[in-house]
Amino acid sequence: MRYPYRQYPARRTWGRRRRSGFSLRWIPILLFAGYFTFYYFSHQETVPITGRSQLVDIDRQQEVQLGLQSWAEIARQSDLIRSGHNLDVIRDVGRRIARAAASEDPGFDWEFNLIDSPQINAFALPGGKVAFYTGILPIARNADGVAAIMGHEIAHAIARHGAERMAYQKLVHFGSMAASVALGDMDFGTRRAIMGAMGAGSQYGVLLPFSRKHETEADYIGLIYMARACFDPREAPKLWQRMQEAGSGNVAEFSSTHPSPETRIHNFEQWMPEALKVYAEHCGDHSPLPRPSADNAGEPTTSPPAEQEQEKAGPGYF
Ligand SMILES: [Zn+2]
Repeated sequence: MRYPYRQYPARRTWGRRRRSGFSLRWIPILLFAGYFTFYYFSHQETVPITGRSQLVDIDRQQEVQLGLQSWAEIARQSDLIRSGHNLDVIRDVGRRIARAAASEDPGFDWEFNLIDSPQINAFALPGGKVAFYTGILPIARNADGVAAIMGHEIAHAIARHGAERMAYQKLVHFGSMAASVALGDMDFGTRRAIMGAMGAGSQYGVLLPFSRKHETEADYIGLIYMARACFDPREAPKLWQRMQEAGSGNVAEFSSTHPSPETRIHNFEQWMPEALKVYAEHCGDHSPLPRPSADNAGEPTTSPPAEQEQEKAGPGYF
C-alpha cells in the first residue's frame, strides 16, 4: 500500500516542470495554429467541375504574372518549333480543349507551343502559356492522346493547382519556423533530428499526397474537357499507361508525384461512363465516337480495315 505514496511526489514534480516549459515553448506553435486556422478559412476557393475547396492566397492577376514570368524564362532557354505538322496538331487540339474549358476559363490568353527537346513533358501555366516537348509526342501518339495531355495540363492551370501548392508550401515553411522557435532551447542535435522528422513528415504527409490529389483532379477534369471537345475519352487511360511505361527515365512532371498506375486506371474506369455521356451530349450524332482502334491489344474490332487505315493516316497522327 505504500507504493502510490512513493509515486506521488515524483509525479507532482514532473507535472510542475512540464507546466513551466509549456508556457514558453508552445506559444509560437499555438500562435501558428491560430494563424493557420484563420488563414485557412479566409482563403478558400472552389475548384470548378469537382467543387473541391482549396487554399489559395494570391489573386488571379498575381498568378498570371508568375505564369508569364516563368514562360518568359522557359522560352528564352528553349528551342521553340515555329512551324510544321506537329505544331499544327498541338495548336488545333489546344484551341479545341480551351474552347471546351471556356465556362471555367478565367480569361486566359491561350498560346500553344512546341519545344524541341527529348524531355517527356508538357505544361500549361496560369495565363494560358502551354508547351509540349517533342519528347512527349511518340507517347501522345495521336490527336486523342495529345488531347488527354492537353486536357490534364489545362485542368491544372484552371484549377489553380500551382497557387494552391504555393500556399501550402508557405504554411509548411511558417509551421517549421514556429517549431524551430519552440524548440529553441534544445540542443542542436535533438533539434535537428526533430526538424528533420518534421520536414519529412510535411513532405510525405502533406505535400506529396497533395500533388497526387492534384494529379487525380487534373486527370478527371482533363477527361471531361477532352470529351466536351469531341476527342475519344477512351484514349486517356491508354495514354497514361504509355506514359507510365516510358516513365522510368526522362520524365519530369509525371514521375514523382503521380498516383500509382493501378489507381489511375481504376479512376478512369470509374469516370468513363460519365465521360462518354459528356461526349454524347456535346458531340452527339454530329461526331459519333469511333469504334475502339486496332491498337486496343487483342480486342476484336468491327471496323473495316480500310477505315482504320484511313484513321491512322489522317491528320493528328505523329
Ligand atoms: Zn499533372
